[in-house]
Amino acid sequence: MKLNYPELFQQACYIDGEWVAENGETKAVTNPSTGQVIGEVPFLGEEQAKQCVSAAQTAYEKWKKTTANHRADVLRRWYDLMIEHIDDLATILTLEQGKPFNEAKGEITYAASFVQWYSEEARRAYGEIVPSHRENGKIVVTKEPIGVVAAITPWNFPAAMITRKCAPAFAAGCSMVLKPAQETPFTALALAKLAQEAGLPKGLFNVVTGDSYAIGDVFTKDKRVRKVSFTGSTNVGKILMNQSASTIKKLALELGGNAPFIVFEDADIDAAVEGAMIAKFRNAGQTCVCANRLFVHDAVYDEFAQKLAARVMQLKVGDGFEDGVSIGPLINQSSVAKVQEHVDDAVARGANILCGGLLDEEKLFVAPYVLTEMNDDMLMATEETFGPVAPLFRFHDEQEVLERANDTEYGLAAYFYTQSLGRAWRVADELEVGMVGINEGLISTAAAPFGGVKESGLGREGSRHGMDEFLELKYMLMGGLDR
Ligand code: NAP
Repeated sequence: MKLNYPELFQQACYIDGEWVAENGETKAVTNPSTGQVIGEVPFLGEEQAKQCVSAAQTAYEKWKKTTANHRADVLRRWYDLMIEHIDDLATILTLEQGKPFNEAKGEITYAASFVQWYSEEARRAYGEIVPSHRENGKIVVTKEPIGVVAAITPWNFPAAMITRKCAPAFAAGCSMVLKPAQETPFTALALAKLAQEAGLPKGLFNVVTGDSYAIGDVFTKDKRVRKVSFTGSTNVGKILMNQSASTIKKLALELGGNAPFIVFEDADIDAAVEGAMIAKFRNAGQTCVCANRLFVHDAVYDEFAQKLAARVMQLKVGDGFEDGVSIGPLINQSSVAKVQEHVDDAVARGANILCGGLLDEEKLFVAPYVLTEMNDDMLMATEETFGPVAPLFRFHDEQEVLERANDTEYGLAAYFYTQSLGRAWRVADELEVGMVGINEGLISTAAAPFGGVKESGLGREGSRHGMDEFLELKYMLMGGLDR
C-alpha cells in the first residue's frame, strides 16, 4: 500500500490517547478485490471495552466544560486534515471495503462534510426562554451534552457512518467509544489518527476492535454510557435495543431499508434511468438507501427496462483501483450468496434476466443485474438484497403502487419520478419513510436529517436535528422574582 502519510495505517486500537497493539489475539482484514490480507487489528473484548468507557468518562468531564468555540476549532482542524489526506484515506477505504477509488474519495468528502457541518453547528446549541406560567417566574431551557456515547458502525460506509455520529457528539460536548465493523477497521483508525492530530483530547474518541458481542454487551449495559448509536442491520439493532433496556439508554438506530423507486407514466424516463443508476448501483448496491424495488408504470415499463439495461451493461466491474471501474466487489461470500439466492428465487418464479451474472465463483465480483417481470411473492419484494440487482416490478395506478411501496416493515428511503406537481406532493405525503427523493436518486447530505421510520430505526443523523440527538434538555423554573 502506497500512502503519502504511512502513519495513517494503524494496526492498533486507540484507547485513552494510546495506540494499543496487544500481543494477544488479532484479526486479519482482507481486500475483497483480491482476497489478500491487508493487515491485522487486535481482537479485544470486555476488559478493553470497559477501559474505553472509563477513558471516555474522564475525558467527557473536561470536554463538556470547554467552550463551543474551542470544540468548533478542533473539529474544523479535523475536517481540514481529512481533506488534506483524502487520497490516503480513500486508498485505505478502497483496500478494505472494495468500492471504486473515486467513490471512496466521494465518501471521504461526504464524511468530512459532517465534521465541517458540526464544527459550525457547535456554536448553535441554543436553549430558550419560555413565557412563564407565573407572574413572578421565568422558564429557562438549556441543552446539555448527554455524556459518554457508544457507537457501532457497519462496513458499507466505513468513514461516513462514523463521522455522522462522532462529529455532532463532540460538537455537543460528548465523548465516544467506537467499535467499527470487522471488515473495515482501518478507515476508522485512520480517522482517529487525524482526530488525535487535530487536538481531540485523549480519551475523548476511543476506537476498539474485536469481539462484537462482548464489546456490544459493555456498550449497552455499562451505566456510564448514556447513549448507544448504532448503524447496521435491523436484527442487530433489535438485539442492542433489548440489551439497552437494562440501563434505559437513549438509542439512535440507523437500520436496514427496502426502498421503493417508482417511475410514473409522466416521468422524464432518461432522468429516472440516471436516478436509478445512482440509487441502485452506488457502492455495488450495498447502501441502506438503495432502491431495492423498482416499480415502473406499465405504459413506460419496456422503455425504462431497455434504457436501464443499456446503461447497466456499460458499467465496468473490477478492482476499485482500476481505471473506469464503477462496480467493485461485494464485501464477502455471504453477500454474494444472498444475491445469488435472490436472483435464483426470482427466476424460479418467472423473472427475466436482461443483464447481469456472477463473474467468478471464487471471487466477490457480480456483474450488475436488471430483472423484469418481478412479482410481490419473490424474496426481493420483502428482503433487502444489498447487492447490484435492479428488479423491475410493473404497476398500473398510483394508489396500487403506494400500497405496494408501503407494504414492508422498513421505512428508510423512497424515490419517485413524476412531472406532475400535484402527484409529487400527494405521493411524498403518503410514503411511509423518513426520506424521499423526488426526481432525485441521491439524497444523502450533511444538511438534511437522515433516518427512517418503522423498523428502519430511531433518530436522525445530519442537520441541526442530528446535534439534538446528543443533547439533553434541562428546564429551570426560576421563581420568586418579585421578592
Ligand atoms: P450488521 O451485521 O448489523 O453489523 C453492523 C455492526 O454491528 C458491525 O460493527 C458488527 O460488528 C456489529 N455487530 C454485529 N452483531 C453485534 C452484536 N450482537 N452486538 C454488538 N455489535 C454487533 O450490519 P452490516 O451487515 O455490517 O451492515 C449492513 C446493514 O446496515 C444493512 O442492513 C444496511 O441497510 C444497514 N445500514 C443502515 C444504514 C442507515 O443509516 N440506516 C447505513 C448503513 C447501513 P462485526 O463487524 O464485528 O460483526
